[in-house]
Amino acid sequence: MLRKLILALLVATLPATATAEPRALVPDGLIDGIGDELLTGRAVIIDGEYIVDVLPVGELPSAIPVQRLSGLTLMPGLINGHEHPLIYGDDYQNAHLSGSSAYKALLGLAALQGMLQHGWTTVRVMGDADVFFANQDIARAVREGVHQAPRITGAGHYLSITGGGGDINYLSPEQAMTSDGYIVDGPMAIRRAVRREIKYGSDWIKILVTGAFHSVGDDPKNVAFSPDELAEAVAEARRHGVPVAAHAHANAGINQAIEAGVRSIEHGTYLDETSIALMVQYGTFYVPTIYVGDYYAGTDKLLAQDKNDDVYLSYRDEWLARIGEAHRAGVKVVVGSDLGGYNIDPRAYAREIAVLTEAGFSPMSAIKAATSVAAEMLQWQELTGSIQAGRWADLIAVEGNPLTDLSRLEDPSFVMKGGDLIRWNRSTDPAN
Ligand SMILES: [Zn+2]
Repeated sequence: MLRKLILALLVATLPATATAEPRALVPDGLIDGIGDELLTGRAVIIDGEYIVDVLPVGELPSAIPVQRLSGLTLMPGLINGHEHPLIYGDDYQNAHLSGSSAYKALLGLAALQGMLQHGWTTVRVMGDADVFFANQDIARAVREGVHQAPRITGAGHYLSITGGGGDINYLSPEQAMTSDGYIVDGPMAIRRAVRREIKYGSDWIKILVTGAFHSVGDDPKNVAFSPDELAEAVAEARRHGVPVAAHAHANAGINQAIEAGVRSIEHGTYLDETSIALMVQYGTFYVPTIYVGDYYAGTDKLLAQDKNDDVYLSYRDEWLARIGEAHRAGVKVVVGSDLGGYNIDPRAYAREIAVLTEAGFSPMSAIKAATSVAAEMLQWQELTGSIQAGRWADLIAVEGNPLTDLSRLEDPSFVMKGGDLIRWNRSTDPAN
């Protein structure tokens, strides 16, 4: 009752011409990102860029403007925990060599806007095929209100060893070029690279602890960085209060990275019981990025096609079983699409959420992996990832009940970021 009174006063004290006034969204269903049930009969109150209340529809103040989302389920905006917006071609290492940083920024902005239109209100960039810091430039332009795009956090570059997954290994030694990754060898070079990343706006450090699947000339089953290099990366980042994300496929690389103190393991393809126990012990987040390999499996799109097929045509079931084990053991698993930017149909990003159900996640757990659990990984749980008072009004609504069909998340009818309406498919609203 007190809450209703406060809201009524808030409405009454606002001038009639106020552009931002408290308003209510009334969907058929509500998934708040925290609870295990789909709720009905709830209203979400927005004031400016924030959610200020969630209350039963019957307690709505009579004066408050209401937007009905008939036939829709309202949810937190989606968080993509692993993405590369500046990548614009399937063979990204070739594309990197022909596109300038400015060109990549222009395409990357379009890709990010496509993600936002499809419900991704936050994106963690895990390094990009870019010599400069175009993602940080895009983030700045978004913060300054020049462009609308998702909230951007993450790393400008992936740090790689010479010959590693971030290096370009298929040119002759005579060819001088700047690799897609930031090439560092030895603890001092790593310390300098971490400081440079932070100086120019990275709020995560991304390290390629092992080889990769979509690069030429390196082996994902090898560990790249030595233990002293790994320790230096984590120690230097920690001095600046910046978390480290570790790309790791090889089992020894996964386990060394967890013990070194990274906040998240990316891919973690060859994890085992020890890796799972370590992730539980250290509270490490796990971002498996499964769907990207499905997307490319059996195609001829990649220069490193054989490495991708090696996992996705023969090991996928075993990997999914391990991911399910990790989830049941209490590892915090986060959705990351890892698909890249401009060449991708933006409906594809949400397929990572559905794939988690193949690993044994309930649909609600899979949704949490792209909302509240992802927000916790970012240390943004007080800001986004759930529908609770005090969070940004980062919201999406999808047709019907996504718990019975997660493909509904691919193309939301309604998208809101920080109280700004990004997308509203009016054909779903009988009032319009
Ligand atoms: Zn990636």
